[in-house]
Amino acid sequence: MTRKIKTVISYTVEQCDSCTELSKRKFSSGDYIFKIVSKCPSCNGEIRITKIFGETITP
Ligand SMILES: [Zn+2]
Repeated sequence: MTRKIKTVISYTVEQCDSCTELSKRKFSSGDYIFKIVSKCPSCNGEIRITKIFGETITP
């Protein structure tokens, strides 16, 4: 009998409001969609969380 262990890793996608630059990082607690996380280094626009998703890792 084999036991399969699935690991789900959550990711957060951030996107700049002005230049639509995307970045993906690991989810950290307190993240929610439409939260403003920082200022964009290239255009000084607001960077917002646009997506939170989980990826299943199969060893
Ligand atoms: Zn920007």
